[in-house]
Amino acid sequence: MITFCKDLGIYCINRGKSSCKHMTDCCKEYCYNLKFYNIFTFSLNANNDYILERTWKIMEGKLLHCLINQHWKTDIKRIRFAARGECLSVKSDIFKVKDIVSYCSKVAFWLPTRAWKDGNMRALIEKELFPLNNLKIQASIDYTRTKKEFNNLLENNWSTMFFNPNDNEMIFDNDLFVKCRKTWNKVYNGKKWVNKPGLCAKCNHCTSTQNHVWLKYHK
Ligand code: SF4
Repeated sequence: MITFCKDLGIYCINRGKSSCKHMTDCCKEYCYNLKFYNIFTFSLNANNDYILERTWKIMEGKLLHCLINQHWKTDIKRIRFAARGECLSVKSDIFKVKDIVSYCSKVAFWLPTRAWKDGNMRALIEKELFPLNNLKIQASIDYTRTKKEFNNLLENNWSTMFFNPNDNEMIFDNDLFVKCRKTWNKVYNGKKWVNKPGLCAKCNHCTSTQNHVWLKYHK
């Protein structure tokens, strides 16, 4: 139901590839998850995806709240939605997230999404999810998006997470963006440059009040 992601240092609620209904041309070419799907073809596609989507179907706030507090008895402070997949694939997901976040009011939730590109989904996200104090939502944006779209997100108080495979090119307002420590400050382990595992748990930037984060390309 929820998994601990060592790389981020926090718990995640993931979804399968079939949830990615709002992908851009950038996703199709550079998504790090799709790369893994191509390497671990059987284990990710056949097993994991199926389990993730089945779990998402039965997930609800009351159940997760009970599991965290009574069954696992774990002090989970933060949960990220969709380190893999798209959390807000269809409209009903918005109400599911509202239910989960409202029930688990002591947990800080973090949700990057591409669903903002769909006008109806975006309006519903702003209406139903923006008022929730323990949920921070970021619009995932990339080089396929326009300045007009970005400015429109700003006007409506969206936080954003930007990615461009060309690491030297910031196409929006450079001054607004903070370079993500996890992806920009890699360390050399003697063989290759790697993330310092668990940095998101210490950084917290993505769950601060309106933020704009620039991710470096995962090669
Ligand atoms: S900015 Fe901080 S919290 Fe956000 S992805 Fe990077 S390391 Fe994690």
